Amino acid sequence: MEQKERKSIKGIRIQNASIIMILISCLIYILLILATVRVSEKYEDVHHSMDDYIAWEEGEALLTEGSAYLTEQVRLYVVTKDTRYRERYFMEVHVTGRREQALRQLEEHDGGEEAYKYLEGALESSNELMAQELYAMKLVSAACGEKAEKLPEMLQEIVLEPEDQALSPEKMLEKAQTIVFGESYQKVKDKISQDVSDSLASIHAMTHQNMLESADELAQTMNGQGRMISVLFVQNLLIFLMIILLIVKPLRNFVRCIKEDRMMEVMGSYELKYLAMTYNDMYEVNMANEAMLRYQAEHDPLTGIINRGAFEELKKVFQIKKIPLALLIVDVDKFKDVNDGYGHEAGDQVLKKVAELLQDGFRATDYPARIGGDEFAVLLTNMTEEQKSVIERKIGRMNEILTHPEDGLPKVSLSVGAAFSKDGFTEDLYKKADLALYEVKEHGRCGLSFYQNT
Ligand code: GH3
Ligand code: MG
Repeated sequence: MEQKERKSIKGIRIQNASIIMILISCLIYILLILATVRVSEKYEDVHHSMDDYIAWEEGEALLTEGSAYLTEQVRLYVVTKDTRYRERYFMEVHVTGRREQALRQLEEHDGGEEAYKYLEGALESSNELMAQELYAMKLVSAACGEKAEKLPEMLQEIVLEPEDQALSPEKMLEKAQTIVFGESYQKVKDKISQDVSDSLASIHAMTHQNMLESADELAQTMNGQGRMISVLFVQNLLIFLMIILLIVKPLRNFVRCIKEDRMMEVMGSYELKYLAMTYNDMYEVNMANEAMLRYQAEHDPLTGIINRGAFEELKKVFQIKKIPLALLIVDVDKFKDVNDGYGHEAGDQVLKKVAELLQDGFRATDYPARIGGDEFAVLLTNMTEEQKSVIERKIGRMNEILTHPEDGLPKVSLSVGAAFSKDGFTEDLYKKADLALYEVKEHGRCGLSFYQNT
């Protein structure tokens, strides 16, 4: 029965709820960690795109600057024929090398295929430009009559066209100027600028696209993070509610029940409901045991009526409760003879019979008690001297039954001493009833005597 009752308990099991909550938390935290890694990756991507763009911008500026410097030096040399400008030109080509520096820088940073294509175009044009510049410088050096072996190595390798070799120095200078200030030279220069700006535009577009994509993914991932944090928040609220409703509230209630010494309300999680039901069962068993012990402590095991100890407690109650009452002290006459003649067992049966007669003969508000071996007391509540005849009749009837037994038990009789009190159980009430009993014993037994005040 009890087992069935336990099986029927319905409720959330804290153990299962905790496992589910832990699993959900772990899942959300793992997703959050993954999202955070993704965010930092995207951030790195954006960072790199920016770096690449800046590096390309710098590189191309360097390239343009270097190229412009070379043009400037070659033009100055062609116009002034001052070899210092030519030296500066080669210094830029061999030592400063802004063009090479820029190229190295651009190679280190990804600019995309298209940007490289434009860059290659620019480099080709730059080489072409340089060839024109070298040719112009060779013309100038030839016009100035410089010896070929004293010229910079690169100029030594340049061979003038036969028709140019045939030109006069003035014409050579004129041709050189025509080359570096001419339309074709400017066109190549313009092409370089165009390629540079096209490659920059391409890398700009690529960076912009990369950044847009990364920013989009970043926004999506961060949105996901936001949603996961919201779920975590809701989950925390749920855990909080669960703890309050399934654990804290029931526990507080249980403590209250224990303090007030009553059964527990079956509430909360499955485990606590189980606990409360088990406690309640134990509480019931405990109560029953306590009641049994109390009963055993207060009642005479042979006759089942209250014993001397309980009678003493009863006296205390009626010492406080000052109502009119009567006390009877009842003793079985010559009881020793019953034991001796019929045996102790028969004596016990007689005692039980007397107790039953006293119990049945008086009202429910009266208290018969066994206060000694064959001695009984009966406390009759709300009883006055005017009701003496009632007591006489009842005792007479009992003696009638006991002296004419029909149950096979030995014949016995009762001697009863009685005393009245108008205001509860007074100090001398017992003594008075006992004196009255003594009176009956002295005058032949089997009868009732009332204590006389005079
Ligand atoms: P009296 O008329 O003067 O009262 O004579 P009595 O023989 O009844 O004398 P007393 O009251 O002194 O004797 C009580 C006897 O009751 C003594 C004892 O052996 C017996 N007795 C006491 N308790 C029990 C009991 O539980 N069972 C039985 N069978 N006898 C008991
Ligand atoms: Mg006796």
